[in-house]
Amino acid sequence: MTRIYLDHAATTPLLPAARQAMIDASVEFGNPSSLHEEGRRARQLVDEAREVISRSLGADFAEVLFTGSGTESAVLALAGISLEASRKRVLMCAAEHHCVLETAPLLRRLGIQVDLIRVDRQGRLDLDHLGALMGDDVLLVACMHANNELGTIQPIHEVVRISHERGALVFCDAVQTYLSLDWNVDDLGVDLVSISAHKVGGPKGVGALYVRAGTPMKPLIAGGGQEREMRAGTENVMGIAGFAAAVAAPPVDRRTNALYEHLKRGGFVPSVTTAGRLAGIVHGRFPGVNAESMLILLDRMGVSASSGAACSSGSIEPSHVLLACGYSETEASEGLRFSVGKSQTDAELNEAAQRILEAANRLLH
Ligand code: PLP
Repeated sequence: MTRIYLDHAATTPLLPAARQAMIDASVEFGNPSSLHEEGRRARQLVDEAREVISRSLGADFAEVLFTGSGTESAVLALAGISLEASRKRVLMCAAEHHCVLETAPLLRRLGIQVDLIRVDRQGRLDLDHLGALMGDDVLLVACMHANNELGTIQPIHEVVRISHERGALVFCDAVQTYLSLDWNVDDLGVDLVSISAHKVGGPKGVGALYVRAGTPMKPLIAGGGQEREMRAGTENVMGIAGFAAAVAAPPVDRRTNALYEHLKRGGFVPSVTTAGRLAGIVHGRFPGVNAESMLILLDRMGVSASSGAACSSGSIEPSHVLLACGYSETEASEGLRFSVGKSQTDAELNEAAQRILEAANRLLH
């Protein structure tokens, strides 16, 4: 039985171009900070990669910092802006990824008050609530571009308008929309953007943070002054080269409607029914079917999927996103996420849908 991987929102397979770029870069052992020939060659790889990634974001070369992950980018943005800031409130969408929400305790220790912005049943940020929370003491608003569990696309332009009107900065976690939606930093209008290599066919353990020129951010890691003193530590040259090669690889269209439509006909209840969702993420429930049982059975049937929620010590916790959307604990424990890769064919997705419906039927009867 061929396995079908439907968990691309968790991570994507390494693209051949990225693997090759990393193999090539592994020969360049120099330290990019060294002034000699070996160092200069390693520096050139990092510079070329920064050029590719800044261009893909519509940013200037100097506005892109490499980090160790999407998570690190988010923490650097949130805490790096909060250090020594005179405004003392940060607003976060309640459906943000844990890498944003779990930064709140650190921010509180820095003397920042953190308030959560409500979301509706589909995970969409409540703009009225944002307006009610907004004030001249708000330093930063964190709103992701699209949700990693549900695929819901957030009203980022309105968030930027409401925030900028009051002088607040906007941080956007764009890990799930980078190279899957067509945007650049000027379209979004935000001040800081995080992205991650392993969601776009690059290696794990590399991310980037866009910081709009002039944004007052402080480093969290001091040391050798790398990344314009914003993130010290000798650069992950191989990982960075692999990241850029994945970004430069030719784009392929996503094809997910086959899966969405097929599952809907079989009793699957999609969580997001508006047009404002990522095509690559199909989230929903088979009412009465527990997600954990379903995922174990699907794995045995050759389908790798996810609940989208965090998994700790082998069991799935109820999704904080679904709870924030107003689902009950039972409903939240039924949430399933199928996330499709760019090159998956309709035939593969139809086969996946048949296996998924069969698994749901077996668990229901
Ligand atoms: N933000 C979102 C929306 C994500 O989906 C993820 C990955 O799970 C991250 C941040 C974290 O990225 P990384 O795995 O590179 O730390």
